[in-house]
Amino acid sequence: MEVYNFSAGPAMLPKEVMNQAKEHFTDFAGTGCGLVELSHRGPEFSKVLDEAQTDLRELMEISDDYAICFIQGGASMQFAMIPMNLMLPDGFAEYADTGTWSAKAMKEAELFGDVRTIASSKDSNYDKIPVIRHWSPDDKASYLHITTNNTIAGTQYHAFPTSKAPLIADMSSDIMSRKINVDDFAMIYAGAQKNLAPSGMALVIIRKNLAERAPKNLPTMLKYSTYIEKDSMFNTPPTFTIYVFGLVLKWLKRMGGLAEMEEINDAKSEALYELIDTSDFYRSPVFPESRSKMNVVFRLPSEELEAKFVADAKKKGLSGLKGHRSVGGIRASIYNAMPLRGVETLVDFMNDFARENG
Ligand SMILES: *Cc1c(COP(=O)(O)O)cnc(C)c1O
Repeated sequence: MEVYNFSAGPAMLPKEVMNQAKEHFTDFAGTGCGLVELSHRGPEFSKVLDEAQTDLRELMEISDDYAICFIQGGASMQFAMIPMNLMLPDGFAEYADTGTWSAKAMKEAELFGDVRTIASSKDSNYDKIPVIRHWSPDDKASYLHITTNNTIAGTQYHAFPTSKAPLIADMSSDIMSRKINVDDFAMIYAGAQKNLAPSGMALVIIRKNLAERAPKNLPTMLKYSTYIEKDSMFNTPPTFTIYVFGLVLKWLKRMGGLAEMEEINDAKSEALYELIDTSDFYRSPVFPESRSKMNVVFRLPSEELEAKFVADAKKKGLSGLKGHRSVGGIRASIYNAMPLRGVETLVDFMNDFARENG
């Protein structure tokens, strides 16, 4: 039976990538050694790192004004590194509170300066992205931080705020799922395990001159400038994660790049939302204009039916559909690696389930 994994993260990787990684695991590029056994300063890994950076620049159209850094500690480490490096002395930063991850980022920033919540949907259980007219970015802010896709609440920005302050975005759960203009952002970061690679690493795309503002007394490993100057090789980087990331980028190129990926992601999410909106059985807790194309969350008439839904789906090879423990319900995470066929299989199952249990 074909299994489709709808887990929110670590999430499924493209089947092709998993098979390539499996083949190369014990013999990388004819060396007779696995990549994880080779020196990170040797020619084989150097090529892997170079190609990953080149392919990422090409796919996202990243200019030379930006550095690409691979930093361990996942997105959560960035919650602290951002204010540590980028909060101006006696300064403040603006945050939009659109979910659990935004709130965690804000909590870390409070350790380093004043945090101003300039928009929030917390009072309505994060059911929408606060509307643009609420933005009042102050040009004195150290930066403005947003979370472009809210993995748990199932909301996503479909337009970005313009800000005089440097705009920083946590794109952990929607990076490379659509075309964006990198120049609109001062920094983009993403934990790898949703749309890019295995867990444990963050991809950081940062405007080089922004990194220069960090205080001089930061530990070496917590300074962006270290990663920029040493090309993410100050210490031993997560070689396997970067290698798999490189395979994912080559897969994205074969798929036709981000514009093509965006079309497929649109088709997948539209199929699910159409079913939910035309059904008396399923219900979306999210405002239509704020709905995520990556994490489709929905409810059934009762928690008992939701538990049965998750169990029955699993028997049919549809795994990882249980909503986040903090909000309940159902969540279908449909990142880049989820093929349209997987979503169609889920739609068929949902129709059958509603007929049998409605
Ligand atoms: C998963 C996630 C994180 C946390 O990532 P870690 O790599 O586990 O630290 C942060 N932000 C968003 C939006 C996420 O989806």
